[in-house]
This record gives sequence, C-alpha cells and structure tokens, in this order.
Amino acid sequence: MNAKSDPLQLTCPHCGRDYRNSARLAGKRVNCTCGQQIDVPPLPGGITIVSRPNPPRSLLRRLRDDLSDPGTMARMACWIGILNLIALLLIAGLWEMRLHRLVEGLSQLGR
Ligand SMILES: [Zn+2]
Repeated sequence: MNAKSDPLQLTCPHCGRDYRNSARLAGKRVNCTCGQQIDVPPLPGGITIVSRPNPPRSLLRRLRDDLSDPGTMARMACWIGILNLIALLLIAGLWEMRLHRLVEGLSQLGR
C-alpha cells in the first residue's frame, strides 16, 4: 500500500513527522511534537465520525444571542422581579409566623 495515498497516514507539513491518522482524529486539529498544529483531513468517502462540533460552545453562543436580544432581557428582568416578589412574600410569611409564635409565648407568660 502506498503511504501517500493511505488515508490513515498523516504527515506533519512542518517537520515531516509521520503519524498514524486514526478515525477518531479525522477532521480535527492535532498538536505535533514540533509544536505546530496539523489539520487532520476528514476520512474519504464522506465517512465522518458523528461528533457534533462542540455542542457546549454552540449552546453558549445561543445563550449569548439570547442575552443580547432585548426582548429576552426584558423577559428575564420580569422573571427576576417575580422571583424577588415570591422571595419577599416567603420571608414576610416566615416573619409573620415567628411573630405569631412570639405573641403566643408572651400571652402564655402573662397568664
Ligand atoms: Zn511537526
């Protein structure tokens, strides 16, 4: 088998070092020992390992797009306001309960 036509043969264009291209690395960029990066060609025949390109980053980008959208910001501000209101009500309720207990305790002391 001719090494040049072997799709699994990878040669660093910077230092000429030969690597064994694995299907796992196809279409990716790897670091050579010489410090340069090698673009690994995708496997021929359209066979590509199904690995979505960095889903976390695209998710982050979507989130950033959402955040830069003024409508989303307004919606978020609205939600934060509602959450604050709920928290306030909860705290107020807790205080009222404590106050009731205090009053009960005091009235029992008075007897
Ligand atoms: Zn190299």
